[in-house]
This record gives sequence, C-alpha cells and structure tokens, in this order.
Amino acid sequence: MKAMGPIPAGFRASDDGSLMVGDWRAPDLVAAQGGTPLFAYDRAIVKAQAARFRAAMPPEVALHYAVKANPYAPLVKALAPLVDGFDLASWRELELVREVAGWTLPVSFAGPGKPDFKPDLQAARDLTVNLESEGEFDRFVHGGSDRFAVRVNPPFGLKGSGMKMGGLASQFGVDHDRVPALVRRIVEAGAEWRGLHVYAGSQSLRAEAVIEMQRATVALAGEIAAEVGLTPPEVNLGGGFGIPYFAGDKPLDIGAVSAALTETLSARPVILRDTKFVIELGRWLVGECGVYLTRVIDRKVSRGKTFLVVDGGLHHMLAASGNFGQLLRRNYPVAVAHRFGAEPEEEVSVVGCLCTPLDLLADEVMLPRAEVGDAIAIFCAGAYGLTASPQTFLSQGAAREVLV
Ligand SMILES: *Cc1c(COP(=O)(O)O)cnc(C)c1O
Repeated sequence: MKAMGPIPAGFRASDDGSLMVGDWRAPDLVAAQGGTPLFAYDRAIVKAQAARFRAAMPPEVALHYAVKANPYAPLVKALAPLVDGFDLASWRELELVREVAGWTLPVSFAGPGKPDFKPDLQAARDLTVNLESEGEFDRFVHGGSDRFAVRVNPPFGLKGSGMKMGGLASQFGVDHDRVPALVRRIVEAGAEWRGLHVYAGSQSLRAEAVIEMQRATVALAGEIAAEVGLTPPEVNLGGGFGIPYFAGDKPLDIGAVSAALTETLSARPVILRDTKFVIELGRWLVGECGVYLTRVIDRKVSRGKTFLVVDGGLHHMLAASGNFGQLLRRNYPVAVAHRFGAEPEEEVSVVGCLCTPLDLLADEVMLPRAEVGDAIAIFCAGAYGLTASPQTFLSQGAAREVLV
C-alpha cells in the first residue's frame, strides 16, 4: 500500500456518503454535466481562500490572480471581484480577462518570449508589461508600449520550492545588477516606469522560506530604488504559496507569512514608503477548489494486483500521473465519489486510458470498493490541471469543466 495526499479542507460527504462539490452530490453533478471526465471547481472554496488571504495579510498588500494556473472562463470571472488584478502570461489570457471580466482591474503581463506588443490592448486598459530583458524593452517600446515594470532576476531563490528560480542564470527577468540601467532607459525614453517584479519560485509549503524571500525582495527593491533614485510605484513580491499534494505535506502557515510581511513592510526603506505591494497567486487560490472526476471503465486483476481503468488520464491531469515519469512519483488525494469517507476496503491502482504505463493516476492506494461505472475523484485539480496537460496526446476525448 502507498500513501496518498490529504483531501483538501472544504470537501464533505452528503447524507448518503457521496462527495459534495458545492451543493451537488458528485454523481448527480456528473449526470447533469453529461458524464465524465469532468473537472468540477467549487467556487465557495476559492472564495474562502481569497478571504483567508485578506484576513491574514496587511491591507496594503494587493492580491493578483495568475491566470495561467486555471484560465477556465467562469472561474476567472468568479475571481474578478475577489482580487485586485490579474497576472497574464499571454495575449490570449489578456483577451480572456477582457471577455469575462471587462476592463475592471489592472493587469500585468510577464513571461519570456512575448509576442509583439498589441497597441490596441494597451490603449484599452491599465496594462503593465513586465520586462524580461533589455531586448524586450527595445522591441516593445518600438511597438508603442509605454508602461513597463522590470522583472528582476534576483540573487536569491525561494528555498525548497517546487521550481527553483532566482540566484541563477535565467530566461526570466533581468539580472538584478543590470536593472537600474534598464529603469533609467525606460524613464529616458519617456515611458512610464511602473515598478519591479520578482518571482522567485513556486509551490512552497515552508513559511520561513517565503518570509525570507519576501524580506530579501523588499531589501533588493530598496537597493535598486536607491541606485536609480526613484520610488517604484509598485513592487510585485511574487507568490510561491504552495498547497499540500502528498502524504506528509502540511499547509503553508499563512498567518506566519503575513505577520512577518507586516513587520518587513513597516521596516522598509524610506524610498519605498509610497510603494504599493502585490502578491500574485495561482495555485494557492484555486488549486484546492478543483476535483477531476473520471469513471471506472474496467476493473481488472493482473498477477494479484487490482487495476481500476478509468475514462480519463494524464492527458487531462498530467501532474497527478507524475509528469511523464517523475523519479519519485507520489499519489495525489483520491476518493470514490459516491463513497466519500467510507472505510478503505481494497488496494487498487487507478490507471488512465492512454496506452502508456505512465498513465497512472493513483498507485496502490487503499479505497472503498469501486465498480465499473463509478466515478473516482482526484483532488487538487484546480490549478495546472486541464490546460497544463497534453490534451491531444493519443487523441482521446476532451474533458468537461464546470464551476459550481
Ligand atoms: C506561474 C506564475 C505565477 C503563479 O504561480 P503559482 O505557483 O501558481 O502561484 C505567478 N507569477 C508568475 C510570474 C508566474 O509565472
């Protein structure tokens, strides 16, 4: 038997023992949506998470949603009243935000290799381009863009985070010691300098690591500001807040992070006194709201091992499979949808319908018995789920999505 991750808070069982997603029994929701595979996102969980952020964080810290975590339009729309801005990674995401939320919130666009600037989009709205290089500044200022923040490649990273960035040669951001020169060029070109952006890592569950990163970011912003002699209107502190996926993972202590950030900001360098601060989050806001529901197509036993073969797979939920052969594959939290919270009865492996042994959604986990036709729920499917998976791999069917 292998362990699985903790089921996110906010999910409960109905009187008859079914997993509830919002006000729906999961099997009813599947039927109402026309079947599986289905991503269901629970808006109450997103709301609660945003409220936790607001309750904990100092009021001068703005919250942005990083759309790439989950660009499902109804979810982005539901987030609009809960956040102070959107962080985008493509022009398409900008169009999406415009379609679903209108031009009500500030947006910023970060990421290497941005396609050429679209003047009509900036003209329409409060858009900041976060520059990833000097060359990008040349190209964009030539293309008519006039509002820039500089993404900084800092001399530090987010320790122990899932994806280390910072402190290294990087395609992201401008090396910190070259940032003052680029800021001067922005100002000399007559463009508006919006500030600094530091994104030093992702998926951290360690409050001390996040605290240290935020402290270092504020200090670095102060040094850069002092060198150019200007106050950055805004400093985006990045995010990196993680969620528990695997056995033994503990939630990030947001109270500790906010207490330390309050202290860091109250002791900030004078030149940052009028600076606004932003935290941009994707995974932490939406990761736990999503459940991937997939139906058992076949039960088979092979050399003593029971397999539940489902109609979904890694083409929708790559991360739960271990990302194409991760060395140390671990199990996401999983349940049988109509027997949520029932006692485990048998050891099974849940495998997807793709012709590759990598299509493993849960390996040797203990679950209540599930028959052909029953839905299996895979949790933590709200961020980097469907759009972060190779949906056309093996040309299997699409997944449905719904926000409840
Ligand atoms: C992906 C990304 C985020 C969101 O990261 P999460 O781990 O989902 O919170 C935020 N900022 C930038 C610049 C990103 O590229």
